[in-house]
Amino acid sequence: MAGEFRHSIENPYEYPAGFALSVFLEGLRNGVLRGSRCRACSRSYVPPFAFCPHCIDGKVEHVEVTNEGRVVTWTRYGGGEVLAFVSFDGFGGGLLHRYLGEGDPREGMRVRVRFRQKRVGSILDIEGFEPAP
Ligand SMILES: [Zn+2]
Repeated sequence: MAGEFRHSIENPYEYPAGFALSVFLEGLRNGVLRGSRCRACSRSYVPPFAFCPHCIDGKVEHVEVTNEGRVVTWTRYGGGEVLAFVSFDGFGGGLLHRYLGEGDPREGMRVRVRFRQKRVGSILDIEGFEPAP
């Protein structure tokens, strides 16, 4: 006899941040965005990598990223909040976070990171992106 059985299984785990993400999270705790720059090809990424994804070179340095970037794309979800994916000048990759401005953002518009006053080393140390003046 076919039937339906529903059950939830808890699966708590901790995910080690690793070297590059630890640098990123420590930066957030200090109110600074950090990325990586390859010493071989000069490509830069945020969040940082432990190696260069372009030339697979492990000689990367961690660099400070300007707090301003551009909205690449965005979406409205559930309760009406807006998430924006933002790329930062001179860096590959980008960050997805809340958009804090009024109304809808525009693709290409300049935004900047707003950090929370109290920070603990989490992606939530970023409150979101606000329109850049
Ligand atoms: Zn490289």
